[in-house]
Amino acid sequence: MSPSAGLTAAAAAAEQPSQGPGWGAFVGGVVLGSTVAAGAAYLAVRYASSASSAAADELRRKERRRPGRIQSGTGRDSAPSGKPLARANTDLYYANGVEDELLEVDRVASPSPRQSVLVGAGGSANGWADGGGSAAGRPPRPKSSPRMPVPMLGPPSGRAGETDAAFTDGTPPGLRGRINEVSESEAAALSGSGQRPAHLYAGPANRSNTAAAEYLRNQGFTFPTMLAAGASPGQAQLLQSAPRFVPPLSLDGRAGSATLPPGFVPSLQPSGSMPAGAAGTAALSGSANQVVVGSYPAAITAQAPPATGTITTADAMATEGRIIEDAAMHEQYVRVITPEPAPTEETEEVCYLLRQSLDMRNKWLFRPQHSPEQLAHLPEAVTVTDVRGSEPFVWQPQDALQCEFEMQAGVMRVWADPGVREQELFAVPGTSTEFFSDMHWMLKVISLGHVRTFTHHRLLLLEQKFNLHVMLNADKEFLAQKSAPHRDFYNVRKVDTHVHHSACMHQKHLLRFIKSKLKKEPDEVVIFRDGKYLTLREVFESLNLTPYHLNVDTLDVHADKNIFHRFDKFNLKYNPFGQSRLREIFIKQDNLIHGRFLAELTKEVFADLEASKYQHTEYRISVYGRKPVEWDTLAAWVVQNRLYSDNNVWMIQIPRLYNVYKEQGIIESFEQLLSNIFTPLFEVTREPSSHPQLHLFLQGVSGFDLVDDESKPERRPNKHMPHPRDWTSKHNPAYAYYAYYMYANLYTLNKMREARGLNTFSFRPHAGEAGDIDHLVSSFLLCENIAHGINLRKSPSLQYLYYIAQIGLCMSPLSNNSLFLDYHRNPFPTFFARGLSVSLSTDDPLQIHLTKEPLVEEYSVAAQVWKLSATDLCEVARNSVLHSGFPHQVKMHWVHTHYWKMGPEGNDIQKTNVPALRMRFRKDCHVEETGLLMMGAANHAARLRAKEMYSQAE
Ligand SMILES: [Zn+2]
Repeated sequence: MSPSAGLTAAAAAAEQPSQGPGWGAFVGGVVLGSTVAAGAAYLAVRYASSASSAAADELRRKERRRPGRIQSGTGRDSAPSGKPLARANTDLYYANGVEDELLEVDRVASPSPRQSVLVGAGGSANGWADGGGSAAGRPPRPKSSPRMPVPMLGPPSGRAGETDAAFTDGTPPGLRGRINEVSESEAAALSGSGQRPAHLYAGPANRSNTAAAEYLRNQGFTFPTMLAAGASPGQAQLLQSAPRFVPPLSLDGRAGSATLPPGFVPSLQPSGSMPAGAAGTAALSGSANQVVVGSYPAAITAQAPPATGTITTADAMATEGRIIEDAAMHEQYVRVITPEPAPTEETEEVCYLLRQSLDMRNKWLFRPQHSPEQLAHLPEAVTVTDVRGSEPFVWQPQDALQCEFEMQAGVMRVWADPGVREQELFAVPGTSTEFFSDMHWMLKVISLGHVRTFTHHRLLLLEQKFNLHVMLNADKEFLAQKSAPHRDFYNVRKVDTHVHHSACMHQKHLLRFIKSKLKKEPDEVVIFRDGKYLTLREVFESLNLTPYHLNVDTLDVHADKNIFHRFDKFNLKYNPFGQSRLREIFIKQDNLIHGRFLAELTKEVFADLEASKYQHTEYRISVYGRKPVEWDTLAAWVVQNRLYSDNNVWMIQIPRLYNVYKEQGIIESFEQLLSNIFTPLFEVTREPSSHPQLHLFLQGVSGFDLVDDESKPERRPNKHMPHPRDWTSKHNPAYAYYAYYMYANLYTLNKMREARGLNTFSFRPHAGEAGDIDHLVSSFLLCENIAHGINLRKSPSLQYLYYIAQIGLCMSPLSNNSLFLDYHRNPFPTFFARGLSVSLSTDDPLQIHLTKEPLVEEYSVAAQVWKLSATDLCEVARNSVLHSGFPHQVKMHWVHTHYWKMGPEGNDIQKTNVPALRMRFRKDCHVEETGLLMMGAANHAARLRAKEMYSQAE
């Protein structure tokens, strides 16, 4: 295959919409699957307890007879491996993949034929049966167990009347016969021996699921499934694919254009057996032995008897059950369930708008062609070097690709056929005009009153849930951590996800380095100033400084109280002893000594990192865009000094300084800045031999950043912004303008690199440290994750969207404390409690930190001030690995082989020291929120559709 053909084929593949559920917009795998606490109209906290009494048994017998007790599948645990944890003191067995289909084996207390063995399908509406508490020790449910009203849009279906009658004994019709069989044989066994068979009723320590499964199989029991029960083909399709089915809606309520996938005509046909609301609630299609579990409100599930299963085998169930149980020995999960009142039309509209916002992110965001899921077969790698499979900086000649590129309207365009330019490759999802109108649409949505109210309430609820979770489970979490051998906070992997290379060393380190250079190399010619070359000694003499005078105070790089809200002064702190010439000598790579001092300093920092072993960094290094040659200078510095460490990946930061260069007459237009930054990157991607060192360097680069003072006033971009070529004014473009053009060029570049099999770059700018909310809206649409994000505290709507999409926030509270926000007002602990994906990072150790382990210092202060537990710290550390740009296979080694999954199935306590029940709590909350959102959105979409059909009929 010729290189050009290869490119075309790969490009064609790249143009396919990226597949893989839950990848990308929902980092970590979102499962759209939950009704929200259907039926639980009270706050239920379930305790695991072994207390057993006749009264409790009696109560449970009654419960079981009640309709709705068993049959409604709850989506809470319907995720592929959100297996309920069986507790030591209960007799609950769980089928593999049949999460909600509970096999409940009664306790011995007072055996009678009708209660001895009961096999039911479906978890309870309020989640009792999902493994939350001991069968014997549950608090009684209220008499009038209120069920969540099922939102009905059309006429009730013809079969609705059957709902409750069908299940008066709490057993799905398809199973009733078998249950009786089991019951009777069990009764026989009991009457013979006077007690239950040992294999079923042994204590927690030696109870055998294999035996239980064997027993049930001998009884002829087949495991039921609820595979899309009650869903029409169209609904099932919607459930499983969750496509972008709703076009943006104009805010004035003209909803006419809502289009739904074929077959999605919920509740408008008399035969529709499921209200539209349920359509959005659940869909999980899992691997071989997992089951699609629909989480339909009780009344709905009842209408269609569950199909009996073909999917789950008794053996698989037994294996899985044992694993869960082993884990459960130490981790009894006390789950917090909150009431969910029936959504109003207004709430549903909010959900619809939020869903559209998420869809917009889906539309824009660049995602690698292969999701981690598709790369799950790759082996784990201990280090970055293992992933590369070769020594760093080894040049292997590569062919050039046949293609042509040119920057047009600020975005690089690529054609497969040079000269002809008919076949364009790697087109960006939308133009800048489209982006700005999307941004404005979102700005409107997030400021709507009812959107703000809804999201504010949800966030508060999430926070309170976390507080309750900690209150009820903290001891168990700590126990679980204790029982994970070897692992503790100090030896879990932590990545400093946001740190600037020119401030990566702490101040004492820099001082020591300067002193040693002054002592060992005083005669080195280091700078050209005022028409003559100066040696290091001469430089210090000209500043009236002797080595003896030097101390950390005269070095004066530390951020003090004068810095607060003064980004300009903060930048001056990069000058050692207040002297820009010392900055040039010691912390620039583009100077007379070709950055030798900085390289040596960097190597020392790398050595410290490697000594600590578990700390990793992503040093951000500047490319300014003043001239195209900057890339080659930087690459040469890195490659020639062999600046490589397994503990570091590089990131590129682009300062937003167009106005400065324009004023200095260095560049003409904004497009020139973009061209200086991107042309070399496209050249080296098309033909690596054109810049060999850059090619090697880029293999160690993980992402791009945008930096500068966000608090500067700016004009909000609109649809009629001039193109970059015409941007020749002296004003700096707004953040969103920078962000779009960075994003668009990176998008095309990434697609082109993917087509060559090269690594891609994520876009992870600074956003929301200060300034307008626009920054956070544009980064919501365009970026994988962001640095700071503290301004999210000002917009509940946006904060909620960041939560749902699990966009990483690499926060630096100590840096904020110096610059923009007092430590005690920092939203980090709130965000963390609410479940936003937050990590801790240092930003500028040189200016901010005092110890030689700045990252640990950052964790330490947070832990002290906010009283973070060991579990909290390890969870934050785990997040930091996920946010980082370290390679896929390394993350597999550091977190879990399926690290991208949310919940316990994406976490290995042996590696992260994060207890499974913390992960389970996070996942439960997230599944509930997304379920609520998707259900409301689907209801609203259906309502719009109904209106549309109605108006057509007229
Ligand atoms: Zn920063």
